[in-house]
Order: sequence, then C-alpha cells, then structure tokens
Amino acid sequence: MQKGKIGVTTENIFPVIKKFLYSDHEIFLRELVSNAVDATQKLRTLAGFGEFKGELGTLDVRVSIDKEAGTLTVSDHGIGMDADDLDKYINQIAFSGAEEFLAKYKDSANSIIGHFGLGFYSAFMVAKKVVINSLSYKDGAEAVRWECDGSPEYSMEKGDRSERGTDIVLYIDDESKQFLEQARIDALLKKYCRFLPVPVISGKEEEWKEGRMQSTDRDKVVNATAPLWLKKPSELSDEDYLKFYHELYPGQDDPMFWIHLNVDYPFTLTGVLFFPKLKDNFEVTKNRIQLYCNQVFVTDSVEGVVPDFMMLLQGVIDSPDIPLNVSRSYLQSDSAVKKISGYITKKVSGRLSELFTADRAAFEKKWDDIKIFIEYGMLSDEKFCEPAMKFVLLRDTDGHYFTLEEYRKLVEAEQTDRNGDVVYLYATDTEAQHNYIQAATSRGYSVLLLDGRLDAHFVGLLEQKQEKTRLVRVDSGSVDSIIDKGNKKSVGLTPLQVNEMSTVFRSQMPELKHANVMVEFEALGADTLPAILTNNEYMTRMKAMAAMQPGMDFYAELPDSYNLVVNTEHPVVKRMVEECSSALDAKVAPLAERIDTDNAAIEALRNDAPDGKLSPDNELRVSDLEKSVAEARGEQEKLVAEYAAGVPVVKQLIDLALLQGGLLKGEALSAFVRRSVEML
Ligand code: ADP
Repeated sequence: MQKGKIGVTTENIFPVIKKFLYSDHEIFLRELVSNAVDATQKLRTLAGFGEFKGELGTLDVRVSIDKEAGTLTVSDHGIGMDADDLDKYINQIAFSGAEEFLAKYKDSANSIIGHFGLGFYSAFMVAKKVVINSLSYKDGAEAVRWECDGSPEYSMEKGDRSERGTDIVLYIDDESKQFLEQARIDALLKKYCRFLPVPVISGKEEEWKEGRMQSTDRDKVVNATAPLWLKKPSELSDEDYLKFYHELYPGQDDPMFWIHLNVDYPFTLTGVLFFPKLKDNFEVTKNRIQLYCNQVFVTDSVEGVVPDFMMLLQGVIDSPDIPLNVSRSYLQSDSAVKKISGYITKKVSGRLSELFTADRAAFEKKWDDIKIFIEYGMLSDEKFCEPAMKFVLLRDTDGHYFTLEEYRKLVEAEQTDRNGDVVYLYATDTEAQHNYIQAATSRGYSVLLLDGRLDAHFVGLLEQKQEKTRLVRVDSGSVDSIIDKGNKKSVGLTPLQVNEMSTVFRSQMPELKHANVMVEFEALGADTLPAILTNNEYMTRMKAMAAMQPGMDFYAELPDSYNLVVNTEHPVVKRMVEECSSALDAKVAPLAERIDTDNAAIEALRNDAPDGKLSPDNELRVSDLEKSVAEARGEQEKLVAEYAAGVPVVKQLIDLALLQGGLLKGEALSAFVRRSVEML
C-alpha cells in the first residue's frame, strides 16, 4: 500500500474548499458527473482512433445512493485510471494558485464563491471520506483503490474493480445528508446534467399504477444527449424550437422568434436565444439565459457574458471558451467574453434587421412586444444602437408604424419650427391626452405614441441621435407654441388687461395638491378651446425618468408644474376681457399706476446710490415705497378677486382646463358639476 501527502502548496486544501465554496456545495455533483462523462467521451475517441480495441459495452454514467452506507457513488465505464494516473491527476493536484488565491480573497469570501472549479476535490465539500475504485482501459492494467478522509493524507492500494471505468464513492458528511435524498439528486441532475452527451442514470422510472405513482424497475435516464442547439438549423422545424423552449421554460407563452447561434472562429459558441413576449414588464428575469460549457450547465446568471439588454432574452449559450472557473469581475474583463458579447449583439441586430426586411407587416405586429427590448438595447449598447436605427419603429396615435427615416420625411415639411428644428409631437396616454392630441392632429400634425417604460429615456436618445430634432409632449403647450413657426399672433391685450386677467384666473384657481399652475395668454384662434392646461416638458420628462431610476428622487418630489393657457381669441374670453375691463379699469388703473411710479422711484433711488449702498434716509424712503407697492398690490388683488368670484365663467373655464389635464378631483370636481348644472 502506498501512503502519501496530496501535493498541494497550501498545507490543507480542504478547509479552503469547504469555506470558500460554502454556498455552492451542490456543484460537486456537476464536477463528478462531468468528469465521468469526459472519461467516457475519451474512451469513445480512443476507440474511434483504433487505440482502444475492446468492447465498449454500455457507456452510461450512474449516480446511485446507498442510504444505509451513507454513500453517493458516481460510476462510469470510461477510460479509468491506474496507479500512475491517480498519482498524476489526483495526488499531485498542482493547485499552485491556492495560496495566492487565499491571500487575495481572504476578506471577501462571497465575491468569489461563483464558479471556482475544483473538479474532483469539490467532493470534499460534502464528503468526509472519498474512495476511488478504478480500472484503466489499458491492456493489463491493475485495479486500484484510493482513499482519503479529508486530510491531506491519502492511501492507495490494489483494488478489486473488475470492469473498466471508475467509481467515485462519497461518504457524505453529517451536514450534507440532503445529498442522500433521491429527490435532491434528481433536481441537481436536472439542473446541471440535463443535456450531457452521455446517458446519465439515477434512480428508477416511476409510473402511475393503482392510483399512485410507483417505482418501476426501469432505469431513469435524466438527460437528453443531443440537445437542440447542437443540431443544424436546417434540420429543425419551428415545432422543434417551440418544444425545446417549453421544456426549458415550462408554462410560458410561445416565444416570438429565436436566433440559432453557431460560431467556431475565433471562439466556439453554440446556442439558441429566444425572444419571449415581454410586454412592458421585466419580470421574465427569473427565466434567464442558461450558460453551458460543453453541455454542462454552469449558471443562469449571465451578467457580463451577454450584453445587458439581452438579459431580457431566454435560451441557451454553450461555449467552452467562456472561462467559468473564475470570479464574475474577471469574467467581465475577459477579452474572449467581450468578443462573445459583441458577437451576440451583432447576431441579434442582424436577425432583427432580417425580420424587418423580410416581412415588414409581421415585424410591425410584433413591434409592441419587442419594442422594450430594442429600446433597451439602443439605450445601453452603442453597437446595437447603430444598426437598430434602421429598424426601430415609431408608432403614431393612429397605430401606424414608421421607421425613423420615414417619419422624418412625413413630418419635416409641416413640423419644422422657426429655428429649423423638426418637432416630433408625442403623447404618453391617448386617453388622458385626447384633447391635446386632437388639437394637434386637427392641425394636420402627427402625434407619436410613446407610452413604453423606457420611452422617457428613448425620447432623449432620439434627440441626441438625430440632428435638429426636438421631441415635445403634446400637452406641454398650445400646438402653436410647441411648433413655433414665428407667426404667432399677438394676444391683443393691454398691459393693464393682462394684469387684471392674470389675477382674475389666479385668484379663482383651486388649491392643488403637489402642483403649481401659472397663467398665460395666447391668441390661439376662435375655434380652439378658451383655456387649456399644459405641462412643463422638461419637468414631465425628468419625472418620467425619475419614476424608473433610483437616485432621481429630487425630480419626483418636486411639485408638478402646469400652465393655464388662456386663449384670448375665443369669444368667451373676449367677452370676459371686455366686461372685466369696464368693471375694473377705473379702480385698478390708479392702483397699477401707483405701483409703477413707486417702483420707478425705488429703482431711481437704488441706481443713484454710490456702490449700491443707500443712505439711511433713502433706505427709509425705499422701505416706505415698498410698503406702498405692497399695499396697492393687495388692494388690487382684493378688488379683482372679489370681482372674479362673481363671474362663474372664470371658475368654469379653469375647471374645464383642469378636467382635461386630469387634475380636477374630489370636492373641486363636485363643485364643477354643481356649477355646470346651475348654469344650465
Ligand atoms: P479537471 O477535470 O478539471 O481536469 P479534476 O480534478 O476534476 O480536474 O480531475 C483531474 C483529472 O483526473 C482529470 O483531468 C482526469 O484525467 C482524471 N479523472 C477525474 N475523474 C475521472 C474519471 N471518472 N475517470 C477517469 N479519469 C478521471
């Protein structure tokens, strides 16, 4: 019997294994089964080259549990190992990185837990003792038995295995008894081994008999050895893809379409990516892309491997070139990974472009579902954005779709303002903004519907990517002020009338929660509404973005800001201005004059002061004048407010505008209804 110390540079590797891979103990099974599969594949290869001439026999891998003995055994009929092999591959694990690794990550165990592959030795995460029984395929090989109890000491002696291949027997430790449960093992095999290329058997098939599920004596094969992504696309039908999709993600709607990936240079990668029906939610993240390495499941947290926006996709990526046994931060900086990510981006944009060109109508039909994905891609990935500019669609409020180029052609002539900017009007809610949309479309303008979750950001992207383009929400002003062509009419009010009318409206404005309203006058034509409520474009955009993004609470907490635009050309307003003038001018004019002269006097005193410093005398005078102004203002305000309170049309106009803007609620709404009835 040979005794020795396992050749590792750290004194004791096992505590390291247990400690660092704590949360990922289950991967031991993946490691052992894939070793068994590798050994089987190697034998097949040798047989293919004529290097192995014996009987291949059944080449399956078995995972069996012996509850009484407390063991879990992984057996294969692969190439096996003789004493020399064991020495070379198992005893002398040149785990030279261990010490360095330990030093580096001492304090951040969690960050490295990922996929630090330890291969065979990961068995010690769950076993107090491991025995290897092996017989090499080589002619005249002797069976060998290796044993190690979790210390660096092992023993190796002649074994009694009579069949070619290897048994790895794990004496499961007390904390890991779960791995002696068939159900747990089944779940793990399904997770990690479902597409391995060699049949993996564990437990027995069950069948429904006499009213309950019963075990049969047929072996249960847990994997499909030839997964779809390794087949040629030309040999696959849509049904095949759909079937595969539903196997991967049970209980989901059919995907919209898919992309079959297949590269062998400069890296090897195969896979299928599915576009799920996304609508407007990101919830699918729980059914993510699965990453495989030679058909062994590695992970479904693919951050860093696929571009961010593709996290919305589903499917499988299989590549031996993704370095899996490293931490995530390393993964993201790895150049192979970057190339892979770039390749996938190109493939996806290429496929989308193909779908767009091949069948525009079908593409439009799917648009609402894929829009969020494409916008996300354009916003987060320059390499995707560029090709996507050709197939990204804009949808107007009538449900017509346009490419960016088409849309520009459509609106350029009519919707260019006096600065030469082409103004794209958009709505975010066809119901709530119905009035504004109508005002714009009746002018012959087009209004886009941008109601998606990413649209607030997308609006900014469009402005940035297209020269001389402005996107303005349709309710952010009167149509004429949004697309200001420089032929705006004068409002036709005297300064005194502006003064009076502003106060008339301001004084009757109801108290609004979390909102400010300013009064403005515009000449909008006799057949435009007498008063409309408009939104501040900048603020609405910031708020829309804030709603989606942490760290922008500042904007979310600001009150909403609106303008009440009063149309001085509307007959009702015209009449109101005249009546107001004749009722108030005589009283308000002297007050306004007093305010003006007092203000002028204050300014003169200030201008005359050397270095802007008033003499004590003048300081008194200014303060008296300021008092007088305030008094006059107060008086004027009171006069106008009293008058306005007696003109129900004022409140009526304000409420109508608030109603359109969706701001009339509660008591104010009831009052409006009552007043309307009274007016009838
Ligand atoms: P890796 O698989 O990453 O090389 P392992 O520690 O898992 O590292 O295994 C080390 C080596 O031991 C393998 O490369 C292989 O040569 C050998 N080995 C492990 N398991 C088996 C097995 N079941 N049959 C034959 N050889 C094996």
